[in-house]
Amino acid sequence: MAQPHTIVFSSALDEPPERLLAERTALTGCPWHDVRAMLRQVGLRPTRQRMALGWILFGKGDRHVTAEFLYEEANKAKVPVSLATIYNTLHQFTQAGLLRQVGVDGSKAYFDTNASDHHHFFVEDESALVDIPATEAVIDKLPTPPPGYKIARVDIIVRLKREDEPDRGG
Ligand SMILES: [Zn+2]
Repeated sequence: MAQPHTIVFSSALDEPPERLLAERTALTGCPWHDVRAMLRQVGLRPTRQRMALGWILFGKGDRHVTAEFLYEEANKAKVPVSLATIYNTLHQFTQAGLLRQVGVDGSKAYFDTNASDHHHFFVEDESALVDIPATEAVIDKLPTPPPGYKIARVDIIVRLKREDEPDRGG
């Protein structure tokens, strides 16, 4: 069985240990400094916009945001940024392994500030993604991929609705 692929600041492994140590001691607990170190570790230049958006994104713990939601938060924080820049930045962060994209339906992508392998509940009425505890989701057997392919990763989305809600389509 193919191992799920997890990117956790993997580019930092290529760095000389002296530099890593220096960066680690630079983590002062201040989110602003953490964001700068985090961007440098994945090889992204800490531009003002990346710093501001990274600070908004990662300063509040693990969560799931859409581009539109981040746009609103940036506006509230008086960060002058276009929706197009938000999309670009989210995709750059995702490619660098800082975020994980979770597709719920065709129209909406969620970005998870917890980039490790994990699965989700999706509360349909509230359009809310909730992490499934690692101990809960068990995959007994993965399908065999076609010849020439291997499994890159497995995303499970368990859709939820309220107990008192009728089943759709009878
Ligand atoms: Zn999550």
